[in-house]
Amino acid sequence: MSNTLTGECLCGNVKFSVADNFKAFYQCHCRECQQLTGPAFASNIFTDRDNIEWLCGRNQITRYEHPSRELSKSFCKTCGSAVPFVNKARSSLIVPAGSLNQLPNIQPQANIFTAEEAC
Ligand SMILES: [Zn+2]
Ligand SMILES: [Zn+2]
Repeated sequence: MSNTLTGECLCGNVKFSVADNFKAFYQCHCRECQQLTGPAFASNIFTDRDNIEWLCGRNQITRYEHPSRELSKSFCKTCGSAVPFVNKARSSLIVPAGSLNQLPNIQPQANIFTAEEAC
């Protein structure tokens, strides 16, 4: 049995729980992630598609899909915080590291697209 972690957006409209059962943790430095998320890189943790329980506010979530790249973001309509979403390929649930209330039992494994790294 793995631990259960909780997460929420900044305003608290959206709350969820996930099992602490993650398969990958990437920090993506690509230009699109910088624009999409604000900071110099995006920290995303990957888990199984069905590893999520929405506790409240699922109808408060909206989604952006990049027209050509494998890039999406789901976020709270009120505060704009990134919340978990299923990727375009529908292979994984992607949990923005900052949306979790507790530390997951996984460390960042790789920095990707570092050629586009901000200074
Ligand atoms: Zn919110
Ligand atoms: Zn990226």
